[in-house]
Amino acid sequence: MTSTTGADRDYVPDVRTLTIDNRQVQPEGAAWDVYNPATEQVLATVAGASSKQVDDAVSAARKAFGRWSSMSGHERAAAIHRFADVLEARTDKLLASIVNEVGTPVSLAEGLQVKLGLMHLRWQAEAAKKDRTLHLGGYDQPVPTMSDVTHYPVGVVAAITGYNYPLNLAIFKFGAALAAGCTVVLLPSPRTPLTTLLFGDLSREADLPDGVFNVLVGDAEVGQQLTSHPGVDKVSFTGSDAVGAKIMEQAATNLNGVTLELGGKSASIVLPGTDVESLATETHLRWSRNGAQGCAALARLLVHESLYDRFLEASAEGFEQMRVGDPWDPKTNIGPMIRPDHRERVQGFIDEALGAGGKALLSVDRPLPESGWYVNPVLLGNLPHDARAVQQEIFGPVAVIVPFSDTDEAIRLANDTAYGLAANVWSPDLEEGRRVAERLRAGTVWINGGGAMRPDAPFGGSGRSGVGRELGEWGIHEYLEPRHIQWRV
Ligand code: NAD
Repeated sequence: MTSTTGADRDYVPDVRTLTIDNRQVQPEGAAWDVYNPATEQVLATVAGASSKQVDDAVSAARKAFGRWSSMSGHERAAAIHRFADVLEARTDKLLASIVNEVGTPVSLAEGLQVKLGLMHLRWQAEAAKKDRTLHLGGYDQPVPTMSDVTHYPVGVVAAITGYNYPLNLAIFKFGAALAAGCTVVLLPSPRTPLTTLLFGDLSREADLPDGVFNVLVGDAEVGQQLTSHPGVDKVSFTGSDAVGAKIMEQAATNLNGVTLELGGKSASIVLPGTDVESLATETHLRWSRNGAQGCAALARLLVHESLYDRFLEASAEGFEQMRVGDPWDPKTNIGPMIRPDHRERVQGFIDEALGAGGKALLSVDRPLPESGWYVNPVLLGNLPHDARAVQQEIFGPVAVIVPFSDTDEAIRLANDTAYGLAANVWSPDLEEGRRVAERLRAGTVWINGGGAMRPDAPFGGSGRSGVGRELGEWGIHEYLEPRHIQWRV
């Protein structure tokens, strides 16, 4: 059966081999089952890399580094574009793989993963061509000199991704690293390894030079070996803050730098004067997309007290439009949670909040499909600001609403979590929106919606949301070191 996109809903990638030094390699480590979270069926049994295979992948990347880094930016760009061409020709397969292993609604998988991911990869290919030399000019102390700053690639990159967007999270890392002249060993989440295994296979078709792009799969132990490996020069990780802290420690074994793209508890601030009737539906459809299994889900709604009742009334329509269920149904916007333990965790947040006096102000109460790890969305209110549901990333379809009395309080509440990833400000006055944006601890602030991740703008956060930035020039610089060259005149 095919979907409206042309992708085959029964498709499961048949690649079970690792990609090491441009070869298909049978994995020799422990095996596990990969599930379709919408049907609860086993999609595939996948074996992980052995310790020796981790060594082999790092050595292949190290061996390839000299040649790849000394190629011209234009040559690297051509190779990355070839890879993008091969991926683009397999759009339907990538799409089906993502929908089946993650449970991402098909329209979202198509737009936010495949199309967006490939657009970013093309941008990164072009960025490989850029001359980043800075001419600093003359300096007289202690003798007259001139200086340039050039850049050199950091080396072998260990790139580890979370489960929720396997395609674009990987591209954000390997596209930038390859463009910068680094070589890569990529390790996806063991819960969603199939799309990434397919990448490895397709990279061979794109004829990337041997060893430049290696793909392993495996559990946390494989991740630990890779991130503390003496042959690795840089670790780039997307995942939870708890694992991010371990990654930092592991990378410290070799004093390696890290880029950490972690979780968030992003606020959507509704300032006085906002036309809540026209924005409420968009607000709810946005925070809940992919079942709010997105790092920048704006699931903390801060609403001015003068608008609170009207906002809630206007929100009913947004909840009515939420469709929970089969990710292949084009009308679905909330698919399943990735695993039953994650569903229990999300339900735990709801139960705890309701048990402590919180209220379910809005919810979807339609019956859930019989199979699949689904949770119906809910908007929780009447919670103190230190409640767990207000402070912690839930990563499921649960939002909280908190009233505020003036703009200073809104900013204080917005900044009052351990995270600092993203925020949205709703205001009829753009200047006021900008003034508020400038006071938010967030790596991205959208004003009046939009929500785009531009290839040329940075993405990332501070606090428990991470270290460093992906995308744009900032993302390329995560994989470059500056080199000061000074000569006497
Ligand atoms: P996770 O932290 O559970 O796992 C991420 C990866 O880490 C997996 O591949 C896992 O195998 C690996 N891992 C676990 N222990 C390890 C160790 N000790 N050493 C090396 N690797 C190890 O995250 P997840 O549940 O897959 O993803 C969800 C999280 O990712 C959420 O917190 C979400 O906010 C975050 N996320 C952030 C961004 C961003 O750009 N900021 C984007 C997407 C997701």
